Amino acid sequence: MKKKRNRNSAQGVWIFGDYRNYFQDRVTLQLISKGRDLAQTLETEVAVLVLGEGIHQYAMEYVAHGADVIIAVNDSRLKEYQVETYTTVVAEIVESYQPEILLGGATSFGRELFPRLAKRLNTGLSADCVALEIDPDSGLLIQTTPAFGGEMLADVVTPNHRPQMATVHPGIFKERPHDSSILGRILYPEIDIRPDERIQLVRSRPHRTGKTNLEGADIVVAGGRGMGPKEEFDMLYELAELLGGEVGATRPAIRAGWADEERLLGQTGKTVKPKLLLSLGTSGALQYTAGIQGAETIIAVNRDPNAPIFKMADLALEGDARSIIAALLEELRKRL
Ligand SMILES: Cc1cc2nc3c(=O)[nH]c(=O)nc-3n(C[C@H](O)[C@H](O)[C@H](O)COP(=O)(O)OP(=O)(O)OC[C@H]3O[C@@H](n4cnc5c(N)ncnc54)[C@H](O)[C@@H]3O)c2cc1C
Repeated sequence: MKKKRNRNSAQGVWIFGDYRNYFQDRVTLQLISKGRDLAQTLETEVAVLVLGEGIHQYAMEYVAHGADVIIAVNDSRLKEYQVETYTTVVAEIVESYQPEILLGGATSFGRELFPRLAKRLNTGLSADCVALEIDPDSGLLIQTTPAFGGEMLADVVTPNHRPQMATVHPGIFKERPHDSSILGRILYPEIDIRPDERIQLVRSRPHRTGKTNLEGADIVVAGGRGMGPKEEFDMLYELAELLGGEVGATRPAIRAGWADEERLLGQTGKTVKPKLLLSLGTSGALQYTAGIQGAETIIAVNRDPNAPIFKMADLALEGDARSIIAALLEELRKRL
């Protein structure tokens, strides 16, 4: 993909590559898939713009899901997302390459970044689109988005400004399967990164709403005292998110403050009936197992071979639950 200076010759369907959590990962892959359809109609290429540090693995993943080109800005100053710095970097690259279309997920991240980008690039933005098509006559991107409080769907076009920008909810488009035989190109544009010094990131941590759907979950990842301390227990939230499940906990884990009270499983907590329950670092006290005995399959990890939980488990793994979960997470992250 060549750098373009002339707006009339804008080219390429670009996706903003967001890999920060499960849903953002998926929506990027879904947009690559849709981007391929759009690019085919426009006879152009699909590119993914990815910023951060250690992003090679994501670049490879995007290629395996259908991206022709990856525009990668690998820099430690972009390791943590900061909207001002990201806006400046993305805007500079977009101005330099002039893509025809720029798409991103309608996630909390996309909702923050994309309006700023649209303003900076002096173009339009359709937020929360539910469909994207190319108009066969004009070649413009038709951005279908809910209007009037969701009462109607509006078809929006951006005839005079570039890129044509839209955000899309996760789950609207279907991602293509991973195919590691697909080849793509990775470009590393040179860019002068100037972090906004008015803002210092002190600490970041995932926001958890506390709302759970434990009773309806197909997968429950339950942790007990043996999954502590809190920093180790926190792995379970990521695991549950990657598996599309919910976190449950025993009484000692709740008492230690590793999980909210509403995640308590057992006699005085919730009763769950998932297809799969992982019971990690739990002894298997009756008051706890009363809440999980309806699970179709139970996999238990305990370092004590005589732990009572093994009597009811379909699969019993003897070992350190924390290192087993850390290894599992590492593997899952690679596959997604
Ligand atoms: C009236 C009453 C009601 C109760 N209601 C509930 C309830 O609703 N829900 C509930 O959960 N509890 C309830 N309890 C408490 C319950 O009796 C148990 O004390 C509790 O379930 C034990 O939780 P646990 O398995 O996390 O901890 P523990 O019993 O201390 O077990 C920890 C387990 O982790 C293992 N372990 C330690 N480190 C590791 C490691 N690194 N890797 C792998 N394994 C490791 C240990 O071998 C051990 O088996 C109730 C108690 C009473 C008296």
